[in-house]
Amino acid sequence: MEIKCLGGVKEIGGNKILVEHKGTRIFLDFGMSFNQYLKYFSEYLNPRKSRGLKDFFELNLLPDIEGIYREDYLYHMGLPDEKRSINGVFLSHAHADHAQYIHFLRKDIPIYCNKATYLILKVIEETGVGSFSDLITMCDSFTFYRNTKDTLSKVNRKTKGSVKNRRFVIMEPEKPVEIGSLKLEMLPVDHSLPGASGCIVYSDEGNLVYTGDIRFHGYNEDKSKRFVEKASSVNTRWMICEGTRIDKTDKDSEENVKKKISSLISESKGMVFVEHPIRDLDRVTTIFKATKENNRTFVVTLKQAYLIESLGKLSPFNLDDVKILLLPREWGLIYSRREDLNLITKEFHPKKEYKKWERDLIWGENNNQIENAITYEELRENPTKYVISMNMWEINQLIDIKPKNAIWIKSSCEPFSDEMMIDEERKDHWLKHFNIRKFSAHASGHASGDEIKQMIKKINPEELIPIHTEHPEMF
Ligand SMILES: [Zn+2]
Ligand SMILES: [Zn+2]
Repeated sequence: MEIKCLGGVKEIGGNKILVEHKGTRIFLDFGMSFNQYLKYFSEYLNPRKSRGLKDFFELNLLPDIEGIYREDYLYHMGLPDEKRSINGVFLSHAHADHAQYIHFLRKDIPIYCNKATYLILKVIEETGVGSFSDLITMCDSFTFYRNTKDTLSKVNRKTKGSVKNRRFVIMEPEKPVEIGSLKLEMLPVDHSLPGASGCIVYSDEGNLVYTGDIRFHGYNEDKSKRFVEKASSVNTRWMICEGTRIDKTDKDSEENVKKKISSLISESKGMVFVEHPIRDLDRVTTIFKATKENNRTFVVTLKQAYLIESLGKLSPFNLDDVKILLLPREWGLIYSRREDLNLITKEFHPKKEYKKWERDLIWGENNNQIENAITYEELRENPTKYVISMNMWEINQLIDIKPKNAIWIKSSCEPFSDEMMIDEERKDHWLKHFNIRKFSAHASGHASGDEIKQMIKKINPEELIPIHTEHPEMF
């Protein structure tokens, strides 16, 4: 078996591991390297979609390999047709640094992952912005057709027949599937995203264990333990092990985050805002529980609500247990008091301003707003009744909410790029303007150095391959 790490080496994320065995070739993850990307690009400077894969190859954001990239991009770049050269891609989880760049892959490459990962990718595709998010479907790019006015139109997602599905193979825990000469087994682990998993690749030359991103201090700790137990029972020849926090000794605890948030809420005499990663449903559960302990109601964003609804039974709670904050869009119809507009008519319903997924969520078939949608007015009238999920993209809502005696709990990781640093400063200005006191309560999505060491000792591989770490030498 040959193992090539084409991303994630000496950096956190961007995992793209090519495994070859007797003519069978699979990728373990196909993620985006933020590090590499931010070296050249920013919010205002992006890769040129018009040049297809060129910018990505030039700056080493994607490996230049034949037979893996989508046909529409190759055609646009004037490159010849290629034959598919890999048998499949396993996705450990739906974080961008592991999954985002499947956008560039051919649609006939089977993607192996579990149900939660598939559903999260679907939500990201449906609610996302940006031009590189064909995750579960693929829309023909750079394709034109002759329209009814006999001029050229560019194909988009609304064009009939332009959107095609990728080939997903939904995996069940501990039920291996055969891919060519290999056998692949998915094993769920604890991490800051639902569906996170590691895997074991079985071959007649020995077995390979891949941790994906893993921790032992969240609500799914048992899954990580089971992963280690299973991996230590199979005679591991190679272990590809993440090491985000290999240099950290302190053990985090999601339970402690809950205690801290709960006590901050209980001491607060006003509104409580919590900033957190919206897809980390462990953290969302933590905040939800801390909110309930204090007899308040958790108010979430539309995106959060859509994720909860999409995950269905895989979500730790359902939409009836929370409230959804409605934000005005460009025309502000939802908050308009202009009676001359006679707003709630069929032709001029506020829902016209919202995207389809938002419309379906807020207004049912009969145009009635769902009961658990609330507005800033309700928050302003009852500041101590709620705990509000808030983030930098929606912080301007504070102008309407006008909080008094409020606190802000930052429940996300510390800034690690210049842009995040600037955002943090900008946030401080907002908080100062509204006299909001800032606190923090966070636990990482990754195991500590000691936990990683113990895991490796138990699995006891012949060869250890560090990945997703800035300190491979510590292994
Ligand atoms: Zn990662
Ligand atoms: Zn991750």
